[in-house]
Parts: sequence; C-alpha cells; structure tokens
Amino acid sequence: MNKPIKAVVIPAPGEALELQEFQLPELEDGGVLLKLFYADVCGTDVHLRYGKLAGVPYPLIPGHIAVGQIEKIHGTVKDVNRKPFREGDMVTFLDVHGTCQECWYCTVAKATTRCPDRKVYGITYGVKDGLCGGWAEKMVLKPGTRLVRLPQNVSPLQFATCGCGLPTAFHAVELAQIRLTDTVLIQGCGPVGLMATALAKLSGAGLVINTGAPELRLHAAQKMGAGVTIDITTINESQRQSKILELTGGRGVDIAIECTGNPKAVTEGMNLIRDNGRYVIVGQYTDHGEVEINPHLQINKKHLEIRGCWGIDFSHFYRAVKTLELFNETFSLDKMSPQIYSLADASCALDDIEQLKVIKAVLKIN
Ligand SMILES: [Zn+2]
Ligand SMILES: [Zn+2]
Repeated sequence: MNKPIKAVVIPAPGEALELQEFQLPELEDGGVLLKLFYADVCGTDVHLRYGKLAGVPYPLIPGHIAVGQIEKIHGTVKDVNRKPFREGDMVTFLDVHGTCQECWYCTVAKATTRCPDRKVYGITYGVKDGLCGGWAEKMVLKPGTRLVRLPQNVSPLQFATCGCGLPTAFHAVELAQIRLTDTVLIQGCGPVGLMATALAKLSGAGLVINTGAPELRLHAAQKMGAGVTIDITTINESQRQSKILELTGGRGVDIAIECTGNPKAVTEGMNLIRDNGRYVIVGQYTDHGEVEINPHLQINKKHLEIRGCWGIDFSHFYRAVKTLELFNETFSLDKMSPQIYSLADASCALDDIEQLKVIKAVLKIN
C-alpha cells in the first residue's frame, strides 16, 4: 500500500485548517501525478478561509498555483510545442481547467474566463474531486490540464514567490497597453501590485508610481521598478493627488492599474488619470461593495477608458513563465523576500498575509 499523502484542508468557511491524509488515487487517461515542491499562498486563500468566494465546494484543499515534478503520467500529455512531458519534468500548470471551447464565451467572445464550465484547482474543486489543490504533498491533474515546464533558470521557489500575482498582473498590464515613456500609476503593493510594477517597467513605462502600504511592501515596489512610492497611511488622498499632478505636468498619469481590493481606490484612481487615459481594474476580485462616481466628470468628459480584468487564460500564464525566464533578474528572490512555511504552518501563513506582515508567503512542501 502507498504511503498516505498529507494535504491541508479547509473543512468549511471559518473553520480551522486541518492536515489530513489521503490515499493515492488511480490516474485517468491523460492524468498527471505531481510531487509538489512549493505552493503559492495568496489573498484568494485568505478569502477561501472565510468563505468569501462564491461556488466553493467545501471541504477543499487550497492552493491554486504550485510547482512540482511529474511522478506519473497516464498516457501521453504534450506541451504547446507538441513535445510530450516525461516523468521527472519540473512543471507548473494553469489552475484554470475545463473551459469547454464550445460555449459562446469560449468560441465567439474568446473570453474563457467567463466560461460556465470553468474549474479552478484549489478553488472550485473540493476534496470530493480528489487531490485537486496545491497545498499537498502530491496533486492529481485531470486530463486536459495545461502544463508548462519550468525554465532551467527559474527555481521552483522563485516561481512560487511570483505566484498567481505574476500571470494576473500580466493580464492587467497587457490590457493597459503601455507605451514607451508612459507614466503609470500602480495602486496597491501586494503581490499583484508588485508584479504589475515590474511588468509596467519592463513594458517601457518611463515612470512607475506606486501607492500603497505598509513600508515593507513599498520598499519592495522600489526594488521592482517603482520610481516614486507614496505611503497611503501617511499621505492623504488630496496630498496624493497634488503629488501625482506635480509629477505629470498637472495632467495626471497616462495609465493606472488598480491592484488594491478596496473599492474606494477606484474613484481615486479615476481622478489621478489624465484626460483620454486608461484605467485597468484588476484588484476587485471579490465583492467589497459599492462606491459613488460622477460619470460626467470621471468618465465621460475626460474620455477615460476603463477595462476590467478578472482571471487569466493560458496565454497569460504561458507568457508569465516566459517573462520569468527572459527577465529573470527583475524578479530575483532578494527583492520579494518570500517567507517560507511548511504545510503544517499554512494557517500561520494565512494570518501573516492577512495582517500584511510579509510581502509574500509560500509553502515549502517537499
Ligand atoms: Zn466555454
Ligand atoms: Zn492566488
């Protein structure tokens, strides 16, 4: 008999995390068994703990971004270049699975993030679906999961540290269509904001301004490429506006990307962008309520272009891994200083993220 597999389980919203043991299941044809090394811990996991996401089948094993070695493949599974994966390959995978490629959203709108069949490892798969979360010693990937080999120069720890923030920010920065020399405001300096800062700079922004808190994370934003950082706990909204107008010839920034999760940041962002500028909103992943806007002043008259950004597809994930390979130094570990926890300490990792004690938390598994 196989050794039982340890995995972290959230039994129900608000309940304490448990370390449970599971038996190794049979693989389906096209299924892959991964021995995991590192998993990402992110704000989504904090939301999951409190039941803030809709359609989550508790109990579940969290962890939607993880990296590990292929231990077993049933049948043939190929990469995008049609090269088969082998046992022993170090890989990661797109957490989104099961988009149908048949519905109106998949085929006509080409917006797979809105596909009704969309499933996400560690979020919409429960324990009843098997070992479908990354906070476990091993994980079973279902047929049709898109895998990517980890590039030689990217360590599993570096990949997990960039975590879901990197592909999420990649999608947002792609939508932002930054031009060379643009002044870009990144609101928020959590993992998505930090990754967006680095990607904005790589995309040719002349100046990246980052607003957020605490100091620890603003310092990381500077390392990721922010030319100016503004601490929102010591500089109030009108002072922030004056400062940004002063930096932009009185016009406001060309582009802003909201990565805060606070609805109030959205109205503020609208006021900090120049006329005919662009706003990408990626931080409002869960519903934190409503805010008032003045559509005439904040959108219509100023020709503001607003783009919403929720979730990622394979192109964002693939290109994010490629970005890590090609611009590896930009994402070096010393800039992000990840805090490393064991599976048994997962709840401590969630506490530390919630209290903004760390820049980034990852689980070291094997
Ligand atoms: Zn679909
Ligand atoms: Zn995440």
